[in-house]
Amino acid sequence: SSSTTPITATLFPGDGIGPEIAESVKQVFKAAEVPIEWEEHYVGTEIDPRTQSFLTWESLESVRRNKVGLKGPMATPIGKGHRSLNLTLRKELNLYANVRPCNSLPGYKTRYDDVNLITIRENTEGEYSGLEHQVVRGVVESLKIITRQASLRVAEYAFHYAKTHGRERVSAIHKANIMQKTDGLFLKCCREVAEKYPEITYEEVVIDNCCMMLVKNPALFDVLVMPNLYGDIISDLCAGLIGGLGLTPSCNIGEGGIALAEAVHGSAPDIAGKNLANPTALLLSAVTMLRHLELNDKADMIQDAILNTIAEGRYRTADLGGSSSTTDFTRAICDHL
Ligand code: NAD
Repeated sequence: SSSTTPITATLFPGDGIGPEIAESVKQVFKAAEVPIEWEEHYVGTEIDPRTQSFLTWESLESVRRNKVGLKGPMATPIGKGHRSLNLTLRKELNLYANVRPCNSLPGYKTRYDDVNLITIRENTEGEYSGLEHQVVRGVVESLKIITRQASLRVAEYAFHYAKTHGRERVSAIHKANIMQKTDGLFLKCCREVAEKYPEITYEEVVIDNCCMMLVKNPALFDVLVMPNLYGDIISDLCAGLIGGLGLTPSCNIGEGGIALAEAVHGSAPDIAGKNLANPTALLLSAVTMLRHLELNDKADMIQDAILNTIAEGRYRTADLGGSSSTTDFTRAICDHL
């Protein structure tokens, strides 16, 4: 149930379509009378030497203090001497798991109407460790780091999630037949954790086969856990099964109980500033944030208003074949509250 003392949450509107869809979230939250006060932080235009990034130390401190936040997409600025914004957030806040639910939307027809998947992506290492260099001219090297600690942590999160959300199966996605050491260690850690959860069925599926199975019949899977790069790719594939990137939310889970929700998609520079973006993915991410805060009545209310607006079909954004602007679609959701 909702409390009366407002909760402070960090909000990064982000780049590209970020400010437009963040505005949509602010409006819907206001209309739903959600007891949240936003502490807004913007990506800077200069590198903060304390973070070696365009994100300031104060921005990171805000998330550490509030332990809960919502972020819009952040473009990676071109240039040298700084870290990617998303990488900075993941590393500095130790956002070790990225949870990406993917559900068919009632009333929005795609090839499947029964998609109900949870992708859990390891978020701190793997192929995205940011360790690349040139060995000699014409030869470069990229280091894929897999550690026992991070693998156990994300596996533990996946099984715990499955157990507490009434899920029956966890599939570890890998390529251990080729990446024997790295993915091999990842699988070993998943197996160790699986033994502690005998009530959850555990299986291992090779990534290429997983892609084929997902496209053929997404109902073959339940909860999927995997290293960083595979999670990035599989979650976009899953988004495609239900209607695209405008629809899929995610939540980053960090050390010490931090939850930083964000859409799966990026800053969509092709449609930025045109009032065309679909705010659903960020709105549903904000809903996962409300569930994390156990504001379940507000979460249900907002989720229902979004789903009803899309199902009704009168107001839909261009990515869903409609002609509504971001602001008209947002107003329709507020009217459904
Ligand atoms: P993208 O997700 O921004 O866009 C891919 C396609 O999907 C585009 O055609 C875009 O118009 C469409 N799309 C995405 N979100 C939409 C929405 N809400 N409504 C309607 N259509 C939407 O991917 P990209 O073009 O590869 O990346 C652009 C920038 O975003 C890059 O700088 C990239 O680094 C960054 N990025 C950031 C994040 C993040 O902050 N988590 C994630 C992915 C990409």
